[in-house]
Amino acid sequence: MFNSLFRACPTWLESQVTAAYFKAKSFSTNGFRGTHSICSTVQQSDMKVQILPALQDNYMYLIIDEESREAAIVDPVDPNTVASAVEKNNVNLTKVLTTHHHWDHAGGNENLCKKFNNLQVYGGDDRIGALNCKVKQGDTIKIGNLEVTCLQTPCHTSGHICYYITNGSETPAVFTGDTLFAAGCGRFFEGTAEQMYKALIEILGKLPDETNVYCGHEYTENNLKFAVYVEPENQDILKKIEWSREKREKQEPTVPSTIGEEKRTNPFMRVHIPSVMSHVNETDAIKTMEALRKEKDSFKC
Ligand SMILES: [Zn+2]
Repeated sequence: MFNSLFRACPTWLESQVTAAYFKAKSFSTNGFRGTHSICSTVQQSDMKVQILPALQDNYMYLIIDEESREAAIVDPVDPNTVASAVEKNNVNLTKVLTTHHHWDHAGGNENLCKKFNNLQVYGGDDRIGALNCKVKQGDTIKIGNLEVTCLQTPCHTSGHICYYITNGSETPAVFTGDTLFAAGCGRFFEGTAEQMYKALIEILGKLPDETNVYCGHEYTENNLKFAVYVEPENQDILKKIEWSREKREKQEPTVPSTIGEEKRTNPFMRVHIPSVMSHVNETDAIKTMEALRKEKDSFKC
């Protein structure tokens, strides 16, 4: 008993320290009880997505199937906010879709499971708290009538999963965690440029252009500063900079984007385009991916 308690301590301590770190970061940016963005909703005919800001710049997403009133939550790092959104929407929360194990995404899973009974917690990595449904590439999950397909996109972390949601003729949606951001991508903590190329070009890039992209962080304005540095002549990027400035002045989220929009404005989804390759003096798309990520890692906005 004592031994097992002792063994659990470093992990427990580690998670308390991590939680304190993220909360302090959020406080320094957003102030007491402040959030980085206003809560907003994207309503489609059968699917509703409520965008819930958390911490310094994270997003959680409540996905609701309108017909059955069943709901799932993506990356519920702030269980109290999730619980009040579930109550306000009067829905039945049954599933947690975890994109990856980092604390600012998966750190609320255990506490959320204490608030709601029998939650199915999905994810692709054993390091995810409260995980009870491990998934892999191509697995499918149902949220009422909505169908979720799991897309394995290792690189930011080795067990990262994106969730692609369709329902008949409705506009599809993809929840990309820290793999794909609006105008950017996640750092390659546990993977290679080749893996990110596969994730962005061969997996996410093959989804329909109209697919709504819901990413894990509000990083758009800073990402666009790098995008325009890579392609100063790209009119789509210049327009999106104006648009996102207006959005952020009103504290509105810049999500969702779409796959088509990312193909036009995101340098990491454009690594095979000559103007992007020539920026890093490469002729190979994967080498371009590697060079761009390296440059962005030390890029000062
Ligand atoms: Zn992460």
